[in-house]
Amino acid sequence: MKKRLLLIFVTILSIGLLAGCSNPKKDYKNFVNSEEIKVVTTISLLADMLKNIGGNKVVVHQLMKPGVDPHSYIPTKLDIDYLLSADVIIFSGIHLEAQTSEALRKVADRESIVIEAAEILVQKHQNNNEDGVMLISWTGEEHEGHDHGNLMYDPHFWFDVNYWIIVTRYVTDELSRLFPEHKNYFELRYQSYLTRLNALNTYLDTRVNEVPIEKRILFTAHDAFGYFGQRHGFKVNAVLGISTEDEASTKDIENLVNLAIEDNVEVIFIESSVPQKTIDAIIESARIKGHTIRIGGELFSDSLGNPDGKGSTYIDMLKDNMDTIVDAILNKK
Ligand SMILES: [Zn+2]
Repeated sequence: MKKRLLLIFVTILSIGLLAGCSNPKKDYKNFVNSEEIKVVTTISLLADMLKNIGGNKVVVHQLMKPGVDPHSYIPTKLDIDYLLSADVIIFSGIHLEAQTSEALRKVADRESIVIEAAEILVQKHQNNNEDGVMLISWTGEEHEGHDHGNLMYDPHFWFDVNYWIIVTRYVTDELSRLFPEHKNYFELRYQSYLTRLNALNTYLDTRVNEVPIEKRILFTAHDAFGYFGQRHGFKVNAVLGISTEDEASTKDIENLVNLAIEDNVEVIFIESSVPQKTIDAIIESARIKGHTIRIGGELFSDSLGNPDGKGSTYIDMLKDNMDTIVDAILNKK
């Protein structure tokens, strides 16, 4: 009898634990019933920004979990529910979330609460490069289903900390406009975050200065590091284009290997979004041509790392990337 009771107890406990682990419906209910300002963001990077600025006045839900590729992400029915119950929606924009923009359009009748974070950068870029904002043009050639005549911009703005600061300022102002009762609170939190972002800038500059100018060449999986290159004086090449929606062709691989030989580059950096077989093909193609290429490490590009691991915040992600790049180029590992 006692044994049976124990068994029942253990069973109930395991069911409880399983349910506690992750229960999307329960999480959604908690979100909807929350007393705080309900914020829905797309990418993990923005969720991190919102938590820094919003503190305990906001509850943040991110649609894309760590490691998810925003270029190809397709929103679920539950995502739409989250979007519809949000007090404010913040997405990155300038075509980063290619497939999610359709869902965002569906809630467009509530336009006043939808904030496109990168919009402020487009404004400044077009306003004679105000505050030094220079967006990188992208014709979107590798995209299907886009109007190729439209001039677009590289959406990976977070790799220039100065741009991240501008966007954080903009998001803080927008939050204060929408929820003026918390203006002072948001402003204080912005100032404290800014102090840490300035320290990050100093750290990155110090590390970059270890690398001689002629060695500042970065070969990556997909073309997410244009702003990194622009900010830190790196020449950047990638296997895939700015979006990850297409696979690399044999010609792409050939071209990249030729560039690597030309620049005498021996290190390539991988990202979780690009298949291992592509990387293997690059290494093999180089080997056939008598050139050695090794993997310098994995970089975070469009997503933070897992919450309990490396690169779990914006600041850590940028530091980790810089350490990986500098150490690999200088062969410190
Ligand atoms: Zn990307």
